[in-house]
Amino acid sequence: MTAWVLAVDLGGTKIESALVDAEGRLLPGSRFRAPTGGRSSSQQLETSAVSVIQQALGALPEGDEVIGVGIGSAGPITVAEGLVSPLNLPAWRDYPLKALAERLVPGVPAVLRMDGECITLAEHWIGAAPGEDNLMGMVVSTGIGGGLILGGRAVAGPTGNAGHIGHVEVGGFDDPCLCGGTGCVEAIASGPHTTRWAQRQGWSGESGEDLAASYAAGDPIAIAAVRRSGTAIGQAIASATALVDLDVVAIGGGFSHVTPDLFDIVREAIAKRAPFPFVAKVRVVPSGLSGEGPLVGAAALIHRAGYRS
Ligand SMILES: [Zn+2]
Repeated sequence: MTAWVLAVDLGGTKIESALVDAEGRLLPGSRFRAPTGGRSSSQQLETSAVSVIQQALGALPEGDEVIGVGIGSAGPITVAEGLVSPLNLPAWRDYPLKALAERLVPGVPAVLRMDGECITLAEHWIGAAPGEDNLMGMVVSTGIGGGLILGGRAVAGPTGNAGHIGHVEVGGFDDPCLCGGTGCVEAIASGPHTTRWAQRQGWSGESGEDLAASYAAGDPIAIAAVRRSGTAIGQAIASATALVDLDVVAIGGGFSHVTPDLFDIVREAIAKRAPFPFVAKVRVVPSGLSGEGPLVGAAALIHRAGYRS
């Protein structure tokens, strides 16, 4: 008999669910996805959530059991009440996603955390930083998220939002952010913000993939755009390391693949902004997770409960 965790990952463009075992492996055929998106109504989002959870549950092999539900969500969240308010899904503000999961999968514990905490747990478990006890996991994609493991334990904070690196301000930038702030690293360096900046400079592409191709072809605007974003990410990491003494930062997410050079640009920016050896020591590595990482991390909330806050 295998003990499975029903993992759920809620993001700005899709919600996914799957069954994950105690080694961090997905049950083949149990992974389902449905669209979310900023224009969806609350009812549409709920329909997507219910459908992926029920489908994943329906894949449970006879005789096996589900021992818990792990939910990773784009932030912000309110962990005590199990509510989600993803910045890029305006129809859901204080939506009770944990209670929905508890209704659909009764009788087992459900745990809700930020997706950033989940991917950090996954990097620590089977990703780029096994056993690294002072780690920030970071996702650079449609938005920028993150999570922290400090002293070997994930740190969620009283509301569950610790590790929200995307809304840390970086010096020298004044880009307006959807959160209402100015100069947040997400407002500069997320995939969509980077491509929009390039477009404002006269670049004619549309997507992050276009920008990657232009960068590879030596397009000067694309190079400037990637350098600008990588510099902002590096500055944010240097500040985070100054605050909490990180050893490792693992960066994943679609836009982190724009070019392998991105990592050198980030490291360069840290070196420039690192007056202290304890800041300069931080290692920045590519994520060791596949596209399954967010689901594996959500499952870690149950399978690796000893590491979470
Ligand atoms: Zn912000």
